[in-house]
Amino acid sequence: MGRARQFAIFAIVAVVSLAAGYAGWRVYQRTQPEQCYACQRPIHAHSRTVATDKGGTRLFCCPACALSEQRQEGKTVRVTELTAFLSGAKLSPDEAYVVKGSDVNMCAQAHEMIDADKRPAGVYYDRCAPSLLAFAQEREAIQFAREHGGTVLPFREVAASYAK
Ligand SMILES: [Zn+2]
Repeated sequence: MGRARQFAIFAIVAVVSLAAGYAGWRVYQRTQPEQCYACQRPIHAHSRTVATDKGGTRLFCCPACALSEQRQEGKTVRVTELTAFLSGAKLSPDEAYVVKGSDVNMCAQAHEMIDADKRPAGVYYDRCAPSLLAFAQEREAIQFAREHGGTVLPFREVAASYAK
């Protein structure tokens, strides 16, 4: 076998094993629950929020957490994608409506379960509160607020109020 041929075989083997390794890593990544960039809570599929800051694209557990990041860190955080609470579908922040301060907060519930036996029950600051849930249609948001409380607002208005 000539040198060139040996090298070609070596190269093919190397590329194939790299590809296999990458595929395996992707599968591993997909099976891990996604974590919030800011609070490390597992991300609930129906409140997943994507935002960008100077460092790049970040995943957040909910819109409230992403907007808190902006307020606390003084960072310019721009929400680029929301998830419809009812359907789990991706939503554009420009068209979405949110219910603010309802009795449903996917993040705080997960948090309380973890802390239930370690901390006394009580009100403490939570970056994911007041809860913000996104809806594709204003009427869906109004219906939800009727059952769970909270205020219906266009997402843009809420984002602007956090920016101050
Ligand atoms: Zn979070």
